[in-house]
Amino acid sequence: MKRTKIKDLLQWEPQNQEVTVMGWTRTFRNNQFISLNDGSTIQNLQIVVDYTKFPEELLKRIHTGTSLKIEGILVPSQGKNQKSEVLAQSIEILGDCPAEEYPLQPKKHSLEFLREIAHLRLRTTTFQSVFRIRNGLAFAIHQFFQNKGFVYIHSPIITSSDAEGAGEMFQVTTLDLNNVPKDENGKVDYSQDFFGKAANLTVSGQLEAELGAMSFSEVYTFGPTFRAENSNTPRHLAEFWMIEPEMAFYDLNDNMDLAEEMLKYLIEYTLKNYPEELQFLQQRQLEEEKQKPQNERNTMPLIEKLEFCIKEPFERLSYTKAIEILENSSYNKKKKFQFPVKWGMDLQTEHERYLVEKEFQKPVILTDYPKEIKAFYMRQNEDGKTVRAMDILFPGIGEIIGGSQREERYELLYQRMKEMNISTEEMYWYLDTRRFGTVPHSGFGLGFERLVLFCTGMSNIRDVIPFPRTPKNCAF
Ligand code: ATP
Ligand code: MN
Repeated sequence: MKRTKIKDLLQWEPQNQEVTVMGWTRTFRNNQFISLNDGSTIQNLQIVVDYTKFPEELLKRIHTGTSLKIEGILVPSQGKNQKSEVLAQSIEILGDCPAEEYPLQPKKHSLEFLREIAHLRLRTTTFQSVFRIRNGLAFAIHQFFQNKGFVYIHSPIITSSDAEGAGEMFQVTTLDLNNVPKDENGKVDYSQDFFGKAANLTVSGQLEAELGAMSFSEVYTFGPTFRAENSNTPRHLAEFWMIEPEMAFYDLNDNMDLAEEMLKYLIEYTLKNYPEELQFLQQRQLEEEKQKPQNERNTMPLIEKLEFCIKEPFERLSYTKAIEILENSSYNKKKKFQFPVKWGMDLQTEHERYLVEKEFQKPVILTDYPKEIKAFYMRQNEDGKTVRAMDILFPGIGEIIGGSQREERYELLYQRMKEMNISTEEMYWYLDTRRFGTVPHSGFGLGFERLVLFCTGMSNIRDVIPFPRTPKNCAF
């Protein structure tokens, strides 16, 4: 099956070369022009068909979706939309695609509709663009950390530690749900389960990554995580991918520096490697924006927004300062926030987006959150009220990264676990890191799909993962 990829072919100077291409028909106009896509690029190749030279029965079978093998010669194009085109000499139909049944038609489909046909939406220019960028970002993440000498650690997907408290967990069991074994107290007898105890899908690889950092000093994880939280938002998935670097000998400032450098690297990588995809997605976004009410529109086109984020240093300020700003904002005074602002509260997306989009108009890093709203492992500040947490907030997204300097002092960590009812016996292995050669260390978690959302300008997280898992939805 020798063929030339359309991406390569479009780079050539057309000089009547004989070429073989294979792909799927995007459109077939006037019985004359086939627009062929093979997924090597979002560009289509124009095939010119002299319909007097081919049997009518053959041409009738060419519709949107029909897969073809074309042999022909590469010539300069008569049209103004492309440099070159292929004059077809032979056309072989690899697979028919009945027009009446094929859901993808050469017209604009809504993203909601395309979500229902996720098995086919990969074939659209929009999703080719999104998933090509997603692929590039995954590669760039490894490149960024590998260039710095970080060691990639695979944290387990099935865990028995339920201490993280990051979100609701999915249970993993082989017990017969129609006949669950119980102990004498009427509780589920997990000793009969596969692992001999209760097990879950991981909500985060952080705790295991910390174990790695205590050996290699700089590690990262990049894997799937699962949260059974019933939050039906455009920013939450039940299955999402997370990047979690964990570094010994880093304080919170070092942590913020690394996170900012990483995000800028990834955005720059996207700009450099995906200009065509970004151009297409920007246009798509502009059209989508026109449907929205004026005050909800994005003011900056996608490419400009990405460029803007790498130019400016991120704004860094404390949670306490952010609360002051929010309290004194005209927004708050006019009671425009759905959730009232008060020190001690967890910031809602509306507050995060206000800070980023209205107040500072750039990415913001908030630090030193109240300890009550943060996890047990975050390093306690001298004030007794706050911890060395950091959240990075992005325009249009809200939280994209959550991280902290970790509590490296055994006594304080132990005490906090007791206060928060976290089993110090079960978590002995985590406490051991603080008993055996503890060091100051930090880390963070980047939600991969939130990054892809930002870099593609898409607005729903279900559209940046091929097969989204959300409450009441596990199709494909
Ligand atoms: P949020 O407040 O947005 O629910 P979180 O505080 O629960 O986030 P963390 O536990 O700090 O998030 O997780 C680290 C990162 O993982 C977040 O900054 C975010 O980018 C991403 N993330 C968290 N939950 C989800 C989810 N359900 N779907 C997709 N990404 C998520
Ligand atoms: Mn959450």
